[in-house]
Amino acid sequence: MNMKMKVAISYLSLGSNIGDRLDYLRQATRLLNEHNAISVMKISSVYETTAWGLENQADFYNLALEIKTSLPPDELLSTCQDIEIKLARTREILWGPRTIDIDILLYENVKLSGQSLTIPHKYLLERSFVTIPLAEIAPDEQVKGVKISTVAKRHSKLESKCLKTAYKVEI
Ligand code: AMP
Repeated sequence: MNMKMKVAISYLSLGSNIGDRLDYLRQATRLLNEHNAISVMKISSVYETTAWGLENQADFYNLALEIKTSLPPDELLSTCQDIEIKLARTREILWGPRTIDIDILLYENVKLSGQSLTIPHKYLLERSFVTIPLAEIAPDEQVKGVKISTVAKRHSKLESKCLKTAYKVEI
């Protein structure tokens, strides 16, 4: 990345519940880092999580990333979506659970509430698979006046649905 450009710190959430879940997390992290306007700075542990919302599907592997990027939020979103499409090509079931999901959680102090992009992510504070990995790499970040570490602690006490694995993704 050309560091003379204005760079922003952003946090992403990655999830996979089909095929080689760990490898999809690894591939997505590497593809993000290979983008010339993105540098991956921090990677949380990999967590195993019960599917949220739609039950009755395989457990997810999730992690959170801190990135530095010179892309504005909308271009970061389309880059994430390009990577999802690239990795989804190898999916086993057409329209089945996706191999990789990439969400933008935070982007500096930006607040956006558009049709295609909401930042901070709409469900950030509700999902233990987001708050628990994020608290590992950004405990002091605040959303709606709440510290990520505080909400993550609450989530880990309430449920054991998001469990830290021994896996690490490296780039
Ligand atoms: P999902 O199926 O959960 O990955 O949702 C994807 C849709 O959510 C896309 O059409 C995005 O435009 C929209 N979206 C809104 N806010 C965000 C965000 N912060 N990060 C990623 N996708 C978002």
